Amino acid sequence: MSNLRFHSVKETLNRKVVDVPVPQKKTSDYFGSYVFDRRQMRKYLSNETYKLVLNAIDKGEPLDRQIAKHVAAGMRMWAMENGATHYTHWFHPLTDGTAEKHDAFIDFDGFGGVIEEFSGKLLAQQEPDASSFPSGGIRNTFEARGYTAWDPSSPAFIVDDTLCIPTIFISYTGESLDYKLPLLKSISAVDKAAVEVCRYFDKNVKKVISYLGWEQEYFLVDQALYAARPDLILTGRTLMGHESAKNQQLEDHYFGSIPTRVSAFMRELEYECYKLSIPVKTRHNEVAPNQFEVAPIFEECNLANDHNLLLISVMQRVAEKHNFEVLLHEKPFKGINGSGKHNNWSLGTDTGVNLLGPGKNPIENLQFITFMVNVLRAVHKNNALLKASISSATNAHRLGANEAPPAIISVFLGSQISALLDEIERGNGTSDINVKGKTGTRLSLNHIPEILVDNTDRNRTSPFAFTGNRFEFRAVGSSANCASAITALNTSVAYQLCEFKREVDALIASGSKKDEAIFTIIRRYIADSKAIRFDGNGYSDEWKQEAAKRGLDCETCVPVIYDAYLSESSIKLFKETEVLSERELHARNEVKWEIYTKKIQIEARVLGDLAMNHIIPVATRYQGLLLDNVYKIQKLYNEEKARKIAGQDLEIIEEIADHINYIKIKTDEMVEARKTANIIENEREKALAYSQNVAGYLDEIRYHIDKLELIVDNEMWTLPKYRELLFIR
Ligand code: ADP
Ligand code: MG
Repeated sequence: MSNLRFHSVKETLNRKVVDVPVPQKKTSDYFGSYVFDRRQMRKYLSNETYKLVLNAIDKGEPLDRQIAKHVAAGMRMWAMENGATHYTHWFHPLTDGTAEKHDAFIDFDGFGGVIEEFSGKLLAQQEPDASSFPSGGIRNTFEARGYTAWDPSSPAFIVDDTLCIPTIFISYTGESLDYKLPLLKSISAVDKAAVEVCRYFDKNVKKVISYLGWEQEYFLVDQALYAARPDLILTGRTLMGHESAKNQQLEDHYFGSIPTRVSAFMRELEYECYKLSIPVKTRHNEVAPNQFEVAPIFEECNLANDHNLLLISVMQRVAEKHNFEVLLHEKPFKGINGSGKHNNWSLGTDTGVNLLGPGKNPIENLQFITFMVNVLRAVHKNNALLKASISSATNAHRLGANEAPPAIISVFLGSQISALLDEIERGNGTSDINVKGKTGTRLSLNHIPEILVDNTDRNRTSPFAFTGNRFEFRAVGSSANCASAITALNTSVAYQLCEFKREVDALIASGSKKDEAIFTIIRRYIADSKAIRFDGNGYSDEWKQEAAKRGLDCETCVPVIYDAYLSESSIKLFKETEVLSERELHARNEVKWEIYTKKIQIEARVLGDLAMNHIIPVATRYQGLLLDNVYKIQKLYNEEKARKIAGQDLEIIEEIADHINYIKIKTDEMVEARKTANIIENEREKALAYSQNVAGYLDEIRYHIDKLELIVDNEMWTLPKYRELLFIR
């Protein structure tokens, strides 16, 4: 019997470190060399076109079709000089990852030959056959039209021989079918709302930018071992596998030295990223064995998110070359840490002020407190929605598990900011309000910069933590499109800032001074959003009870969590900010439920198959060997002696029989549960059935398989084990 497992392990051990073609140049010499950025535009576009494109990017002014023609010509010339022969619109459908369809630049020249062609029309808009992308019923299959449209705010880039143009993806009737369009709208909504509020403090502010710095966690596994694990290939996680005797208990992997094969991979990854202007800065080991992190310098949200998606595809390509497979699933291995993607988020003005960082003077500090408190209130009011924005079938394995934030959104502020807010809240009347000018400044406000300099009391258990000059949304999953979380966050904050502005203006209109009005409203907000503030241990059971008492959303069932998108307040929020219409919200939820169902369905099928044609046959074969042995012993020895010698084997034979029995029974029950769920037509109900009646079997069946793994002869077990998968040599 050939044994794939041992074959693979041997191959892995012999594996050499792959050479990396790292250039002899400084990073800054080749950074962005495959991006049609401002430098290239300056070179390849006329002055006038260049200016108009910049206006579109920086001021959101509409771009004329005529201009698209000129941009397309310049872009094509640049792309061809850099070896591109094809182009594609690059977009983010509501599935995982990105989509692209490549077309060559060629067209007939009318004289029997071809010429390279790329018109403004092809740059500006495309009509991919969109019928196979999820649309939640907005676009019927027979009405398969969807459009992709150029997003000039994210520069085009070249991958291999293809010019990639970032685009939005909309239906024939104009609804968004992707992640990018709502993100762009939320960026614009928060910009508008925040500028209005900034003008209380500084009339020069014209634009507020939302920033994102993601921290991407991932696992690497050897490709040969990966290839021998159908569950990893088909579901992204191990559906079975007993814990390795050693895993992360020594905590020797975190910040430890990076294995040579992995550091070669990282170096090449960084090189490829730099060519594409992805400003990756940090790389290190994570807590679990084989787990790593890469993080860039933060950028404007839309660009940062495009860069995250691009990174993911670059990672997969580079990993292949190094004989690795990248796992982005939130929980690929049971019993050790899962992977997240912390979203560091902040707002900054075009005058260079970070609105979530303490300021240099009392006015800036009042502005800081204003934004801080508005974010706090936005997160409080929309905690269920924010949780929905990060929930998925895969992230559900991580939320609530021991290393990850629980399925409850709360905000960590740290002791200094908390004390400051408490003080503002307690302050009665004028002493607090008197923060104008250089004199009469309240001490507490003056102290903010000093206090924050040594902001050391970090809390790793909070899903949404203030970290000195930004908020860190930690509940986001490693495989998620950040746009989902950031759209919900930007929109919530935009809506909140509009409300704040209305309330302050009303007070001013009725005779209050501006600062007084601001303080009055802030004080009320601090008082009524207290429930969201939690600086304690978010992983504790007491917190779950406490959170429920405080009225925070504690729902853990993912299909039900999605309901938060359709609550009255969420519909109003998205409508008034013009980010998503009610119809779009409904359609998108259909897609979410459908994806949830499919993920569990695939897992259940894969586990069923593996149980029936890997696990049970192997266990039965081993059981047969033991039976042979017992039989021979009984032939050779008298009854008493035979019982003594074969006793162990008999016990194991029975144990195996028990486990096989359970596996068989539970697998049959799981198939029946699936059948019942599959006939449900309503997507929400179906997802619920999968969550409540199918998902539980995965753990139950796994339990018995993992027990068998410990009993059955190692030589016979066909699947690579955790101890092999998890330790790269
Ligand atoms: P950690 O200590 O949490 O690992 P890092 O220093 O690695 O944090 O930074 C995490 C991310 O936060 C990086 O992408 C960084 O660029 C980003 N970041 C830093 N300041 C801000 C900010 N003001 N707004 C948004 N992101 C920021
Ligand atoms: Mg962090």
